[in-house]
Amino acid sequence: MKIYLNMLKLSPYQQQDFHIEEPGDNELLDTWGGRFLQPVVVEGKIEHSGKDIHAQGKVQTVVELYCSRCLKPVTYSIDSSFFAAVVDENCQKDLSETEEDVVFQGDGIADLTPLVQEVIISDIPISVLCQEECRGLCPNCGKDLNTGTCNCRDDNIDPRWEKLKQLT
Ligand SMILES: [Zn+2]
Ligand SMILES: [Zn+2]
Repeated sequence: MKIYLNMLKLSPYQQQDFHIEEPGDNELLDTWGGRFLQPVVVEGKIEHSGKDIHAQGKVQTVVELYCSRCLKPVTYSIDSSFFAAVVDENCQKDLSETEEDVVFQGDGIADLTPLVQEVIISDIPISVLCQEECRGLCPNCGKDLNTGTCNCRDDNIDPRWEKLKQLT
C-alpha cells in the first residue's frame, strides 16, 4: 500500500488521485477468525496545501466473519473514509500530541498499510451478528435456535434446584 510521492511530483496547491488495490492480509482478522473475500481497495487523493501534505480517501473491501451468537459465516462490507497527514518518518517524536491520523513517508514513499489496517480494524464491530435478532445456539444442545426450538427448554433446570423445589 505505497504511494510514490517522488513520482507524483506534487507541488504546492496541487493534488493527485491515487488508487491502490491489494489482497488483504488474513492475519489482520485473527481476532474474529475471519478472512478477506475481496481485495482491499484504497482510493483517494494526495493534497499539497502549500504547507502540509494530506492523504484522504476511502478503504473498501469485503470480509467474512462469524456471527458471535450462532457462529454462522457473515459477509461484512467495509467502506470507511480516512484523512491523514503525510509526515516524514524522522519526525515521529513530535507527533505524540496530535490527534490526527498520520502516514509516514521516507525517501519519497508513503506507506499507507498501517493506516489502512487501522481503518479496517476499527470499522469491524467487536461482536458481529448475522442478524440483529439472532437467537444464537442453545447452550445445552448446540442447536441453532434461528432454525427452530430444541427440546432442552424444560430440562434446563439444574437438578440441584429440582431438589430444592421438592423441599418446599
Ligand atoms: Zn447468528
Ligand atoms: Zn437445546
